[in-house]
Amino acid sequence: MRELVFATNNQHKTQEVRELLSAQYKVLNLRDIGCTVDIPETGSTFAENAALKSQYVVDHYQLDCFADDSGLEIEALNQEPGIFSARYSGLKDDQENLKLVLQKMEGQENRKARFRTVISLVRGKEHFLFEGLVYGTIREIPAGSQGFGYDPIFEPSGYTQTFAEMSMAQKNEISHRALAMGKLITFLKEQA
Ligand code: IMP
Repeated sequence: MRELVFATNNQHKTQEVRELLSAQYKVLNLRDIGCTVDIPETGSTFAENAALKSQYVVDHYQLDCFADDSGLEIEALNQEPGIFSARYSGLKDDQENLKLVLQKMEGQENRKARFRTVISLVRGKEHFLFEGLVYGTIREIPAGSQGFGYDPIFEPSGYTQTFAEMSMAQKNEISHRALAMGKLITFLKEQA
């Protein structure tokens, strides 16, 4: 089976993506290839940050690679936390970040938000981008224990559960990452 590196250290995400790509590829993550460097994400957009990560792996390991960059965009907070989602509170701490979002959203009537994922794929010398968006609202009180990050406060439109109340399989049917990944998979199949 062909190997493809997913430039991430996040085990939750690796598992989600492995499930989505299991029929086509053996997906390796940074730990699997022995990459322990914290690849700098100095870009100002999701696309720039994703491309920095995938290009780093291609340059240093000569393997085809894709990287994603995701985050939560909240309308009432001028699309924050956005690219700062992982460290919104100043700490790489899901609980603290979620707490800060809830604080900033206190008394806010506009609860509209969306998760965005941008995937950068570098194959040989070619570079491709794929995007996924899922719309929803920010709950006032967290609910659920599945998933990670802001899942307990994000209720996708058309559903009554938060992402954290859904099983991984349910979330994978509708998530921003799954949508972007779906585009990546379609592309990879077309190219196979
Ligand atoms: P990353 O670029 O995919 O690592 O995402 C950056 C940050 O966005 C994560 O640390 C989370 O705080 C948040 N995030 C991204 N995707 C999700 C998701 O599916 N659920 C909850 N939070 C997410």
